[in-house]
Amino acid sequence: MRVELDVARCQGHARCLALAPSLFDIDDDGFGRVLIDGEVGTSDIEAAKSAVINCPEGAILIVE
Ligand code: SF4
Repeated sequence: MRVELDVARCQGHARCLALAPSLFDIDDDGFGRVLIDGEVGTSDIEAAKSAVINCPEGAILIVE
């Protein structure tokens, strides 16, 4: 399972960072970025799903 962030859709709400800080960060321009190489460990699966559901721009995708 991997997470991807579509930077073209991201508007910098930072909910991803709040909900899944082990997976996401905010870059110097205020937009989200994936911290890891995209591969989600077992312990972060629920956080990843929460970030997907709560991103208001639909910018986060889970790829199985
Ligand atoms: S929650 Fe969505 S729109 Fe907001 S910073 Fe994260 S990816 Fe971007």
